[in-house]
Amino acid sequence: MTDYAVARQRMVAEQLVRRGIQDQRVLQAMGKVHRHLFVEEALWGRAYGDYPLPIGEKQTISQPFMVALMTEALELKDHERVLEVGTGSGYQTAILAELAGKVYSIERMRALAMRAIRRIESLGYYNVLIRVGDGSVGWKEMAPFDAILVTAGTPQVPIRLLEQLGEDGRLVVPVGQAENQVLRKGTKKGADIHWTELGNCVFVKLVGEQGWSD
Ligand code: SAM
Repeated sequence: MTDYAVARQRMVAEQLVRRGIQDQRVLQAMGKVHRHLFVEEALWGRAYGDYPLPIGEKQTISQPFMVALMTEALELKDHERVLEVGTGSGYQTAILAELAGKVYSIERMRALAMRAIRRIESLGYYNVLIRVGDGSVGWKEMAPFDAILVTAGTPQVPIRLLEQLGEDGRLVVPVGQAENQVLRKGTKKGADIHWTELGNCVFVKLVGEQGWSD
């Protein structure tokens, strides 16, 4: 077994299972996807650590536990369609691609989106579509979605995203101040959204029409 495979198993056991992640499909996906390939080579040795890492353009790849917590909350079934807002490195995108039927992902920064597209293609994920744009308004042409994940912090829940959720659809989004947020999960039931809170978190800003102005 390679050093990275050992590091992945240790990450799953010590950072995810020990902190309460139970969904076996999520644990398997996190044990399978080569996280180090989503950061620059100089950071490969730290790729399985218990923290976010820089990915350029002042953005980050999220901490493994946060990726697992958000993914578990989405309750994805293997035929479902999911929208990710904030592609970043493409790591979370790959995890979603392991668990859902089709993944749509939007990244605001062209350089990051282009790198993520190359990585996702080279790893052979054919059920992913990534585009450059403002994901705070969603992806209307591809809606409705069974699940929507926002991987950047926003001052309020983007209304367009709620509109693009299908019946029983789940939205997971960090909401709050620029420096810290609460991870919120909304489930659509008819005209209502049932909200729960999953804990505190710290994300970079969602910059766009339905997020921060800058
Ligand atoms: N999930 C990513 C990963 O696994 O690497 C990490 C995402 S990073 C914490 C948040 C990303 O959201 C950044 O890449 C940032 O450029 C992007 N972002 C911020 N505002 C956005 C918007 N309105 N639309 C799309 N992407 C946005």
